Amino acid sequence: MANFPLPPNATVGLVGGGQLGRMSALAAARLGYRCHILTRETDSPAAQVSHAVTISDYHDPVSLRAFANAVDVISFEFENVSAEGLDLLAAMKPVRPAPSVLRISQDRVAEKSFLNGAGVATAPWAEVHTLTDLEASVQRLGLPAVLKTTRLGYDGKGQAMLRAPADLAPAFERLSPKPLVLEGFVDFACEISVVIARGADGTMSAFDTVENRHSHHILDLTLAPARIAPAVDAAAQAIARRVAEALDLVGLLAVEMFVDAQGQVLVNEIAPRPHNSGHWTIDACPASQFELHIRSIAGLPLPPAVRHSDAVMKNLIGPEGLALWPKALAAPGLIPHLYGKDGATPGRKMGHVTRLFPRGALPGDLGIEDALRALA
Ligand code: AMP
Repeated sequence: MANFPLPPNATVGLVGGGQLGRMSALAAARLGYRCHILTRETDSPAAQVSHAVTISDYHDPVSLRAFANAVDVISFEFENVSAEGLDLLAAMKPVRPAPSVLRISQDRVAEKSFLNGAGVATAPWAEVHTLTDLEASVQRLGLPAVLKTTRLGYDGKGQAMLRAPADLAPAFERLSPKPLVLEGFVDFACEISVVIARGADGTMSAFDTVENRHSHHILDLTLAPARIAPAVDAAAQAIARRVAEALDLVGLLAVEMFVDAQGQVLVNEIAPRPHNSGHWTIDACPASQFELHIRSIAGLPLPPAVRHSDAVMKNLIGPEGLALWPKALAAPGLIPHLYGKDGATPGRKMGHVTRLFPRGALPGDLGIEDALRALA
């Protein structure tokens, strides 16, 4: 078993080969570690910048064993590893965050039950196995409501908005696998998130609360810090700490939340890994979310998650986003990041740009629009 803190040149195993793994691997390299990626993809964004890669699906026992043998600690940028796969990995090497944490975040019913059990508010919800369940739950929660798959949903995939009684049956038919979750519609004032790291000794470092703007269900902009009332901010930070503690987290966690019209904070979902809404930290903080991810799983000291600048992060999504790359490179003041993906399919996250402002000087919406004008 690994000795923590991991010494220089130790190998961090990361499950998943996407941009979150790529940026974690870059942070690990700066701390003197090597990364070994487990991914299905050849030429993945993470493997391009890593020491080694195992190309396999996420449940082949032979590959999982070879991967676990080659690394000192195992973490994730992709959470949907099978229960058996997680058990196999955990039997061989320390897995951080623990499999129990991943199991909660993989399943919306487990996640909401856990959150409510920890005293954390969510939108009202109901588990839906049959169309009759759905009709009864709509009676209780009202319309509009959002019907979601319990597993494997992200970026708005696997969900349907229910506006009228006629929407129920087609949405129930279309979404799979069952069971589904029905959520009351939250008429939110804004969406916010907090990224928090927690070490094995219980130390926690939370980044400032940020505001997230979506376009077609995909994150478009993150504004750091969120322009919210101090009491709302305090509630969001307290929720992130409470969730990290209740999970007994070792690693990094993103908590996505809605702020409703009354200023109440409701958790939408949690992700025990680096998060798109934390990309601004690479450029605006002495230690980014990726560095805190690696530090927390390697048992290194966790510095406070302070920011030296305010920031706006804009995603470059799909072919339209990739077409902005020359402008992103040429515009003074934009900090460009590209993920090394070939094939810009619609909705695919290809890269992002960050624009920094002096601390305390994040402008209003018009100022932000102006600051990103070079991409317009
Ligand atoms: P999710 O896949 O659960 O993160 O949802 C993607 C996006 O859909 C969220 O960021 C919200 O913009 C919207 N959304 C999801 N659930 C709800 C809800 N219960 N009420 C209102 N909007 C929602």
